[in-house]
Amino acid sequence: MVKVFNIGDIVEMKKQHPCGSKNWEIIRVGADIKIKCCTCSRIVMLERGKFEKDVKKMIEEKLD
Ligand SMILES: [Zn+2]
Repeated sequence: MVKVFNIGDIVEMKKQHPCGSKNWEIIRVGADIKIKCCTCSRIVMLERGKFEKDVKKMIEEKLD
């Protein structure tokens, strides 16, 4: 999935979080991407390449 990601976007990841959620909010964008689980608020940091591979789809794009 090639796309521009922005802080505040909600994405669905391929892998389900142990809490049962697949939706994550992007909270930092850079060489690494930081995402926060929408259900349990757990924060995870992923290398950008890995993140892009693991994203399934955009759920909600932040509009400004
Ligand atoms: Zn979670």
